[in-house]
Amino acid sequence: MHVAVLGAGTMGHGIAQVSAMAGHDVTMRDIESEYVQNGLDAIEENLRGGVERDKVTEAEMAATLDRLTGTTSLGDAVADADLVVEAVPEDMELKQETMREVEGFADDDAVLATNTSSLSVTEILSALEHPERGIGMHFFNPVHIMALVEVVVAEQTDDGTLDLAHEFVDDIDKTAVEVRDSPGFASSRLGVALGVEAMRMVQEGVASPEDVDAAMELGYNHPMGPVELGDVVGLDVRLGILEYLREELGERFRPPQILKRKVRAGKLGKKTGEGFYVWEDGEKVGVSEDVMDQ
Ligand code: NAD
Repeated sequence: MHVAVLGAGTMGHGIAQVSAMAGHDVTMRDIESEYVQNGLDAIEENLRGGVERDKVTEAEMAATLDRLTGTTSLGDAVADADLVVEAVPEDMELKQETMREVEGFADDDAVLATNTSSLSVTEILSALEHPERGIGMHFFNPVHIMALVEVVVAEQTDDGTLDLAHEFVDDIDKTAVEVRDSPGFASSRLGVALGVEAMRMVQEGVASPEDVDAAMELGYNHPMGPVELGDVVGLDVRLGILEYLREELGERFRPPQILKRKVRAGKLGKKTGEGFYVWEDGEKVGVSEDVMDQ
């Protein structure tokens, strides 16, 4: 298969890497050659890491890089593609514009997938003349490690498109879950539901962030507790998703005050050094005093 990936950022380069590793010819497109190069460099670095850890052989690394091309030309990227996966920034207008442009260059039977994590796939595809060839393919970060792809079936998606999406996910050795297009799909909706209840429990003084997290880690075998995960994802990102889900699905997703206060104070979690926890050099070193004072 020839796969075109649009966007060479966090997700785009990961999707390009796993596609090329599975034996597909991949063209990765970004808007500046510098971004394309950064994406290619990140792939090479990932593969090099894989070789060092004996997960990838030198020959596999060379063959993977051989199958990868970078470009800034949308026409070159999608002209021969059987599958186009867009991983451009999370903006409805940009995604619709991208889809529209792709349709101008791509073969009639190419499948067009969006990696949106929260937008309505149905709405993105409404920009297409032939939206039945469109679908959501929601990858997880880091793409080369995470086993899941949510295959998001939009109102317009036809059976042939869905079949190709499943075939591709199998091919790259990942597991698909099939979800009808609805806010938060399956993963964000459930993940955020747990996260918001955990924050409410901290706010109400039911338990400390550490004890809430330990309850899920040790009692339910979650690799990371819901409060810590919020800090890692970014509390601003969590708040944005909650506001959207509240609008779409109702009050059960109403953001708690403690989360709003943290975001207003710029305490966004790991990336700013403080959220519900205090972070130093990317490591959790304690609990935020704001939380302890509750
Ligand atoms: P990113 O900012 O790291 O990368 C986006 C890239 O797209 C940038 O390099 C940008 O220059 C490029 N770009 C902008 N306009 C473009 C265009 N018209 N054509 C081609 N490239 C263009 O963003 P990201 O984190 O990789 O996210 C991309 C998409 O994946 C978003 O829809 C996001 O919601 C989704 N997503 C992100 C994650 C995550 O954890 N980061 C997880 C799942 C899904």
